[in-house]
Amino acid sequence: MLPERTCAGCGAKRPKPELLRVVRKASGELAVDLRATLPGRGAYLCSTPACWERGVKQLARVLRADVPVAARKELRARLEAAEAQTPYALRY
Ligand SMILES: [Zn+2]
Repeated sequence: MLPERTCAGCGAKRPKPELLRVVRKASGELAVDLRATLPGRGAYLCSTPACWERGVKQLARVLRADVPVAARKELRARLEAAEAQTPYALRY
């Protein structure tokens, strides 16, 4: 059994490799953690734009971090880049 995590966007539980991890780095900025190896407080999101949109506000609360518009755009772009890869790219 793969460990399950809850998506901060829709609340669905999914096997960890199917979710994108987002962490708040020590610097306070949010980063998409494709390999799930970055230290810091993290949250999980389904790798779908819909969950991303819903999850951003939740993430800011869960991670106690502000998500500036510029960071949102960057994270969104990274999410889409990750999505464009094969789903297996998210496995580790
Ligand atoms: Zn979700």
